[in-house]
Amino acid sequence: MRMSWVLLAVVVFTSLVTWSSQAAEAPATVYVTFWFDTEDFILPQADDAAKRLAEMFASRHVQATFKIVGEKARVLEERGRDDVILALAKNDIAYHSTLHSVHPTPSEYCRDLDWHEGVSEFIRREGEGLRTLRRVFGVNGSCYGQPGGSWTPQSYAALREFGIPLYLDETSHVNVKDRPFWYCGVLNILRLGDCVIRTGWTDDEVKQACTRFDKAQEQLIREGGGIVSIYYHPCEFVHEQFWDGVNFSHGANPPRSQWKLPPMKSPEAQEQAFGAFEAFLDHIIARPGVRLVTAREIPTLYPDRIYSHPLTRSDIQTIAKAFRKEVSYVDLGTRIASAGEGLLALCAAAQSPDGSIPGEVSLEFAYGPASAPQLFITEGKFPWSDFQQAAREVLEIARASGQMPSLAWVNGQPVRPEDLAVTLAAALTAESRQGDIALQKGELAAKKYVSDDRPGLWGWVILPKGFSAPHMMELAKLQVWTIKPAVLRTTK
Ligand SMILES: [Zn+2]
Repeated sequence: MRMSWVLLAVVVFTSLVTWSSQAAEAPATVYVTFWFDTEDFILPQADDAAKRLAEMFASRHVQATFKIVGEKARVLEERGRDDVILALAKNDIAYHSTLHSVHPTPSEYCRDLDWHEGVSEFIRREGEGLRTLRRVFGVNGSCYGQPGGSWTPQSYAALREFGIPLYLDETSHVNVKDRPFWYCGVLNILRLGDCVIRTGWTDDEVKQACTRFDKAQEQLIREGGGIVSIYYHPCEFVHEQFWDGVNFSHGANPPRSQWKLPPMKSPEAQEQAFGAFEAFLDHIIARPGVRLVTAREIPTLYPDRIYSHPLTRSDIQTIAKAFRKEVSYVDLGTRIASAGEGLLALCAAAQSPDGSIPGEVSLEFAYGPASAPQLFITEGKFPWSDFQQAAREVLEIARASGQMPSLAWVNGQPVRPEDLAVTLAAALTAESRQGDIALQKGELAAKKYVSDDRPGLWGWVILPKGFSAPHMMELAKLQVWTIKPAVLRTTK
């Protein structure tokens, strides 16, 4: 009897050890998001392509995200395609602009606008299609992605107004190391490098895409988990050429009466395309450790923990030390502060009357500045109380307007936020804050995460030839105060 109890204990112990070591070794989950830019409101057969893809996912009890153009939602209703609307509604519904390629597109109309005017104009133009989407599908869009390469920084503040928490697309305007990131308080899946995978339509291409997927999964497991982004357009399964290319290329803007239908694939080529995609989808679904997620689920995977509890004294010291090397986002171990969050934390930490660093400070979200100052000082010596006053004003402005000021004022002198950031960092890491403190010159290193305005950036065939947007990309660089990598829930 006693022996059998001992034996049982040994068996239980051994199996517990085996179970726990297996649990520790279980590879990280790799999330995969499939999204379809559902935009062709000209070719009626594109409606059927969207329905077929929507049903392909539903029949496998998984979901894709359909980013739908407002005008597409409207014509589905006008054509009486309730069957397509219902098939799409079994998946996730997201937003893809009011009119997509009809000029002016977002980059065109925001090109020379300032921050606030651009935000208002984006809300006015793109709010219309979003209202159509909400009316037809009865839900808000789960995410937004720009038409083609027509990206604008002002769209982000509009998305927050729209209650859309995720920007899902593939473009090189902003990028943090080819992984998900925060920008303007919106989560971005915008540039995933090796984790964006598509297949062509031949059997060989499917095989190669499956191999690329397996490699991406292995890489993400090594990183402790992550997300793969796979995108298509329903219309590309049935057409030979994009609907907008044949009508709106290089700034062309024909009236509706002159819109042309794009050429179609042969029925055999269409079947080959759907078949190839289906094989690719089935390969991914069958992979152990893979989970399909929609845009609606993604924000839950990447919580921003910077606002969930106050920053500690040790966090403030980490930020100050990091800012002495470069003004960019700061990894605090379990969460990450953007440069702007770091600056506001230092401004709050500078408020103690006795000069000590407080035990904790709380943050509220603020956009980067709306403009870059032309006139400012970069040297001079001032008492700590002048910097405390400047920091207090920065906090007041950020809290009142939800946006960082373009300038701080130190004893009546204009000072850039990056210079204030490195000066506060130096002062708060010094032994004491007695005597005059020298203003230091800082550079916003995080600017490297926004592309310069270069010809290749605006290669979308719909944009007018030679399109550039230097002012808009400068505005985009001001918003890097808000940029930081997004941390996957399961990794930290
Ligand atoms: Zn599109």
